Amino acid sequence: MHEYSVVSELVALLLPRVGGIDGRVVSVHLRKGELRILSDASLVAAFEIVTSGTPLEGATLEIETVTTSVRCGACGYAGLAKHLEDESFHFAIPILACPRCGAEVEVTSGRELSIESVRVASLDPDESQDASGEEGGCRSSGAA
Ligand SMILES: [Zn+2]
Repeated sequence: MHEYSVVSELVALLLPRVGGIDGRVVSVHLRKGELRILSDASLVAAFEIVTSGTPLEGATLEIETVTTSVRCGACGYAGLAKHLEDESFHFAIPILACPRCGAEVEVTSGRELSIESVRVASLDPDESQDASGEEGGCRSSGAA
């Protein structure tokens, strides 16, 4: 299962960063480009398996789908890709051609796959903290 290997890699990157935090990881926010053909349900299922027995066990995987944006070198269009909607598909398929002139386009978003933030519940029930990070990672906010 492709989702399983993807989640294994993400969790392997994440674990060293959450190992030292004072608190419990309650959720992990993943940004997933729609061009990544990955099933959300399979990602969540794989996350549960991969995090079992780790400090991430019990955390919720939140998946945000990033829509596809394109840039056209021919006419200068920049914006959302047009989608082919077909009832036989489970989702709309982005068309990688310029919606204005039909030329080939450069994809500017839609291929992302990164952990955007990690929510940590303090062991002290009155406090909670957010740790957010740049693409591909996360960092603790360091609040003591
Ligand atoms: Zn164009």
